[in-house]
Amino acid sequence: MATIAWARPRAFAQWNRRLALTYTTQVRRASTTGEPFRLAIIGSGPAGFYTAYRFMKNNEQAKVDMYESLPVPYGLVRFGVAPDHAEVKNCREKFEEVASSPNFTFIGNVTVGASSNHPDSATVPLSSILRHYHAVVFSYGSSEDRKLGIPGEDLKGIFSAREFVGWYNGLPEYADLNPDLSMGFQDDTLIIGNGNVAMDVARILLKTPAELAKTDIAAHALDALSRSKIHNIRIIGRRGPIQAAFTTKELRALYKLPDVEVRPHHLTDLTPHHHESSKPLPPPIKRRMELLGKGKSLATQDPSRNYPSVTFDFCLAPLHFDTQDPEYSTQNTPGPPSPPGWVSSATFGRTVLHPKNQHPDPVESDDNKQHHGLYDPHAIAHLPPTPKNSPSQPTTFSNPSVTNPPPSPSFLI
Ligand SMILES: Cc1cc2nc3c(=O)[nH]c(=O)nc-3n(C[C@H](O)[C@H](O)[C@H](O)COP(=O)(O)OP(=O)(O)OC[C@H]3O[C@@H](n4cnc5c(N)ncnc54)[C@H](O)[C@@H]3O)c2cc1C
Repeated sequence: MATIAWARPRAFAQWNRRLALTYTTQVRRASTTGEPFRLAIIGSGPAGFYTAYRFMKNNEQAKVDMYESLPVPYGLVRFGVAPDHAEVKNCREKFEEVASSPNFTFIGNVTVGASSNHPDSATVPLSSILRHYHAVVFSYGSSEDRKLGIPGEDLKGIFSAREFVGWYNGLPEYADLNPDLSMGFQDDTLIIGNGNVAMDVARILLKTPAELAKTDIAAHALDALSRSKIHNIRIIGRRGPIQAAFTTKELRALYKLPDVEVRPHHLTDLTPHHHESSKPLPPPIKRRMELLGKGKSLATQDPSRNYPSVTFDFCLAPLHFDTQDPEYSTQNTPGPPSPPGWVSSATFGRTVLHPKNQHPDPVESDDNKQHHGLYDPHAIAHLPPTPKNSPSQPTTFSNPSVTNPPPSPSFLI
């Protein structure tokens, strides 16, 4: 989303009015002095380019300068959207059309304001920019991770999606991330969060090197993924399957991966509120639930083969990450020692959805704190089914905590 400099009023309506007034005054002032209106846009993602497109369409004489920290434009369209989703990146054609205008200048490798993470980027203070333009649009996206704020988050082997996605898409600042995907993970890679980015990451981790080679994935990532030993992925969400942020289309893309199984989910255990609700589910959600419940087994294809798999877990929130590195942790769990500073397990607590706003609240239970130990691959299956409570009486699981991961260093996102 783009915001325009000038006003910071209290009420949104007031903000909009003032913005429109300021904009009109500035355009009028520029046109009466005969000079072209000069607009600076900070950030060259879709928000910046679509703003430039609309602005230049309505102001043919205007000059637009677009500042970008990176040497190349298009923001997360280039460095976020998955490399095997070429069709999503088609918007670049529109952006190229904008960039081909003689009234448009792209100024790459220049960070406006704060100093940049990018080693080659020059920094220009905002005050210098403001002197030279009639208006400045800020469309710099989101350039920092949102932390979980739980113990152990900084252990080795835990990556934010921003880092990991930037790494496989060739973002210069993560070129050296070097996630070791070949450490012989015994079981799970955890992906925490179940939106479209989670689905992208799971797909990229499970695609074969031959499939990845057809995409515009970064060469260093293709090389590392070709040697990957990742086998089973668990995608974990704080809310239930009905509220999951991924779409049926994204789910189907996982089912379509040849030689990958999708573990069926026993949805009845997790949807008590909806079982008791008389309201039918909207058709897209119903389709997604049916697909999740069905799963995909390849046992008939080759019963002797241990196929890679994806498992979905719902209503689980991470509580802490642990290590068996004796130098490091206060929360060491028993088991073989981890390499220095590496994560060895993650502990989750059950959540229940608030009946009104579907917000995932942690279950209030001492068990949340008590139940953690080494990873038991059957732990989730052994959880007791959710009692069929009324929506206004959220329930507590008797064994609410699931401790995940392998005794070997694990890889979590
Ligand atoms: C992994 C992933 C997958 C996605 N997949 C899809 C998808 O399939 N379909 C879809 O529609 N959306 C997808 N999105 C979302 C989409 O990419 C974003 O919504 C969109 O890119 C946001 O656009 P933006 O212009 O606001 O920000 P960005 O695209 O982030 O662009 C901001 C730009 O500003 C630059 N910048 C930052 N600070 C400064 C500064 N101080 N000075 C100069 N430049 C600066 C940054 O380098 C960046 O290039 C995905 C996002 C991610 C992370």
